[in-house]
Amino acid sequence: MNGIADMPVSELRGVGPKLVGKLADCGIFRVEDLLFHLPLRYQDRTHVTPIAAVSDGLDAVIEGEVRAADIVFGRRRSLVARLQDGSGTITLRFFHFSGAQKNNLRPGTRLRCFGQVRRGSHGLEMYHPQYRALRDGEQPLEEALTPVYPTAAGIGQYQWRQLCSQALRHLQRAAPADLLLPGHPYPYDLVAALGYLHAPPPDADQALLREGQHPAQQRLALEELIAHHLSLRVLRSRHRANPAPVLGAHPEAQRQLFAALAFEPTGAQRRVMAEITADLARPRPMLRLVQGDVGSGKTLVAAAAALQAIASGYQVAIMAPTEILAEQHLRTFSDWFAALRIELAWLGGRLKGARRQAALEAIASGAAALVIGTHALFQDDVAFARLGLVIVDEQHRFGVHQRLSLTGKSASGSHPHQLVMTATPIPRTLSMVAYADLDCSIIDELPPGRQPVTTALVDSSRRAEVVARVAHACSRGRQAYWVCTLIEESDALQASAAENTARALQQSLPQLAVGLLHGRQKPAEKEAVMAAFKAGELALLVATTVIEVGVDVPNASLMIIENPERLGLAQLHQLRGRVGRGGAASHCLLLYQSPLTSNGRQRLQALRSSTDGFYIAEKDLELRGPGEVLGTRQTGLMEFRVARLPQHEHLLDTVQMLAAELGNRAPANIEPLIQRWTGTRRHFAGV
Ligand code: ADP
Ligand code: MG
Repeated sequence: MNGIADMPVSELRGVGPKLVGKLADCGIFRVEDLLFHLPLRYQDRTHVTPIAAVSDGLDAVIEGEVRAADIVFGRRRSLVARLQDGSGTITLRFFHFSGAQKNNLRPGTRLRCFGQVRRGSHGLEMYHPQYRALRDGEQPLEEALTPVYPTAAGIGQYQWRQLCSQALRHLQRAAPADLLLPGHPYPYDLVAALGYLHAPPPDADQALLREGQHPAQQRLALEELIAHHLSLRVLRSRHRANPAPVLGAHPEAQRQLFAALAFEPTGAQRRVMAEITADLARPRPMLRLVQGDVGSGKTLVAAAAALQAIASGYQVAIMAPTEILAEQHLRTFSDWFAALRIELAWLGGRLKGARRQAALEAIASGAAALVIGTHALFQDDVAFARLGLVIVDEQHRFGVHQRLSLTGKSASGSHPHQLVMTATPIPRTLSMVAYADLDCSIIDELPPGRQPVTTALVDSSRRAEVVARVAHACSRGRQAYWVCTLIEESDALQASAAENTARALQQSLPQLAVGLLHGRQKPAEKEAVMAAFKAGELALLVATTVIEVGVDVPNASLMIIENPERLGLAQLHQLRGRVGRGGAASHCLLLYQSPLTSNGRQRLQALRSSTDGFYIAEKDLELRGPGEVLGTRQTGLMEFRVARLPQHEHLLDTVQMLAAELGNRAPANIEPLIQRWTGTRRHFAGV
């Protein structure tokens, strides 16, 4: 921020190496970062409240005379003092105290106290108030509301206040430029807004502040959202300035593809395919996001796009987030493209030695027209002869920067088109700030004949009934999934949990063929299990969340999810999407561990009450916040400093308008604005 943008926190008074380290743990490196460390709430220490006027739950400053102070031996030994002013009396209670403290509270002493009032058995009390003896004459009260900062890394409130008020003084001296154009309804510039929020005047509307809806907060949130929006637009226009191969439509090839299907494409699939066909025929790289609920048929849309590129003489790379999904795509595309004589190559992380070498050569020579794989496609030694189109499936698993890193991979010099597919619908709110670099198509129709999945919440104490339910469904020729979840990211722990569950279930259900699927198995083993389940040779598949994306077995009509409270809504919706793919009525049982937190209960109820991915995504955003929803919390990519979604959703129209206006009238402001709000983050996200 001009003068203070590059000033390290170590330049502030009282900040030694130890504190620098603690601040770094909070993501605070520069003085400017401190300014965006905004208070969570405020205390009002600007006036004294008469004791008669305080009430339960209130934070208040009171003044009075100590009338009595005694050590009381009740259930807990405590020091109890009575404080009286002209209006009334209140009890001060200390559970930890020293002898000196008892002396300080001698009867007759005048005190000023600050604390939270609560109702005790004998009227109103304050536990452990902060207090100070009032000796000679007046002592000034605070002039502004007292900020309470998010505490972290063992930095106390007093220290935060010292740091932030120093930062504020630097800000006011440096007075950075206001980079937004006038035309928004908030009467604050950047400096005034930050000043207000670190030290609001006594009459500030605390209810508005709590909700993040104070005009000063809205002003900052607006600027931050504009900065994020613009940073993606900049990425986009940089990308779009490159040349891309013109991939014309090939209706005859498409007819052959459709002829290989056992179904007709839906109207929504046809519409989205037409949008993509038009994009691919332009000499600029397509950047298109296809959103479609679980089971809406995105794979076919991808296949049609791939075919258009291949028929035009280019290569296509399809990247999936897990080996299981990539393998499934390999099977599907081999099927669909069988009559078209298209050569496929496979590139997974575990492919080694001669087979990997052969795949790399087929890719480099251009012999392989369609390359399907996982992250392994990103590796440096993967070079394409004529890469025309990159398809990224299940985008929510990849970061923004990853989606751009395949773009330099074509030897031909032109940039490939990009198609990104996500089954986690992105709330409109988020897509504007998280995906503003992409055009968006929505498949808003499911193939005909799908049965909605009925979802029920079942307490884990009723596990035996659930097992009986599995037996019953399987005895009637249906198949079931049993999903084990663990909080630990470790594949090993997840695998062993699933192994134990599979063993236990096989013991209780000796008549059933039980299979096991987890991330630690060898690809061949996974493939064999999936094939057996698909063929109906296994009745029950016990799995980790590896089956979350893509697995497609229409005869499976029952899913049990253990400990669903550990997962996000969107992920649960994904999992549930594995059933309800055939003609049979399908069920999903959420086998939860009680007691549920209130947030946990709300999440599971949202899932029970709706099968609409968009509704669920909005709910997820509301209950968990954008970082979690996009799965980018670790990279910090979607961690806003001030803006909160969905609370600031109403700003988004203004965001779009002002961002466009900046582009027209003050393009020079764009880069500094992006730097101001995403600078540190970009550095740490490695973008
Ligand atoms: P997702 O959008 O979740 O990736 P898929 O592409 O895996 O969905 O499709 C789910 C299932 O629906 C697959 O078995 C696929 O073959 C089938 N399918 C796709 N499109 C249609 C359609 N138009 N009519 C009937 N079934 C379809
Ligand atoms: Mg899919």
